[in-house]
Amino acid sequence: LEAKRDGKGRARRLLDGDAVLRRHADIRRRLGAALDRGGLELHFQPKLHLGTQEVVSVEALVRWTDAELGVVSPGEFIPVAEQSGQIAALGRWVLTAACAQARRWQDEGVAWSIAINVSPVQLASPRLASDVLDAISQHGLAPWRLQVEVTETATMVNVAAATEQLSALRSAGVQVHLDDFGTGYSSLSMLRRLPLSALKIDQGLVARIDTDPASALLLAGVIGAAHAMGITVVAEGVERHEQMEHLRTLGCDYVQGYLIARPASARDLHPQPTSITDLSRR
Ligand code: C2E
Ligand code: MG
Ligand code: MG
Ligand code: MG
Repeated sequence: LEAKRDGKGRARRLLDGDAVLRRHADIRRRLGAALDRGGLELHFQPKLHLGTQEVVSVEALVRWTDAELGVVSPGEFIPVAEQSGQIAALGRWVLTAACAQARRWQDEGVAWSIAINVSPVQLASPRLASDVLDAISQHGLAPWRLQVEVTETATMVNVAAATEQLSALRSAGVQVHLDDFGTGYSSLSMLRRLPLSALKIDQGLVARIDTDPASALLLAGVIGAAHAMGITVVAEGVERHEQMEHLRTLGCDYVQGYLIARPASARDLHPQPTSITDLSRR
């Protein structure tokens, strides 16, 4: 580290820092315009049930193509929006857009639920549960039509407050999924504390299952523990057949990833209407 701290290295680092700041300022400015005037879109990625081979739920992933900046990935603009405070408005936009699409599918007899990603900033708000439940009732949705995905790190900021919000959602019939499990400080004790319906195994862990025996063992343990607590298991980032077959052997319930389907706009998805008898079994 010391060796790199010469005049040149420092100058380059300042320049890099400068470019990053400018990029963030551009994102804030253009995202503000997109939130006011449009430019955001939701894409949806199916989750496949390994037993029935059926899709019953899709994850909403926000997409943004800006006239000046081009395509900006959520991995880049979500952290900027969290820093700037724009995540509140973005979260409201996502909630409304997801409810509107869920309502269209409900009207068409398509039995798909939509999972939205909720940022740590939203989860920290005491209004999260009431905002979500208000949106559901304003759109005339059955509560199972909407699900929320939260990350473990977000729940750990204030476990008691997060648990209160998530419990309110759960008891109203909205499923709560723990996202990115297997990154950060994942602990099995969180599975017991939080009112979870499902946990999503992070793609980093999924990527290693068929090459690293230790990861496969870890996953087997996590799936066993989740099932013992009545929690469903979804694996994300499934890209290869071997991974899917391995997950099936381990007892994983759902798979999601490029192998099954890439995220796509609602008009590019072709959901089949489900019969009323199927719906009532849900
Ligand atoms: P996430 O919720 O864990 O979403 C999974 C990410 O993995 C998505 O990236 C998805 O497109 C990508 N993915 C899906 N299948 C595969 C695969 O087989 N291989 C690989 N390599 N990747 C796959 P995306 O859409 O770029 O989103 C990145 C992250 O940004 C999300 O991670 C989520 O944390 C956040 N995000 C996306 N949309 C929203 C949103 O509407 N609100 C909030 N708060 N965050 C969002
Ligand atoms: Mg997610
Ligand atoms: Mg994830
Ligand atoms: Mg992720």
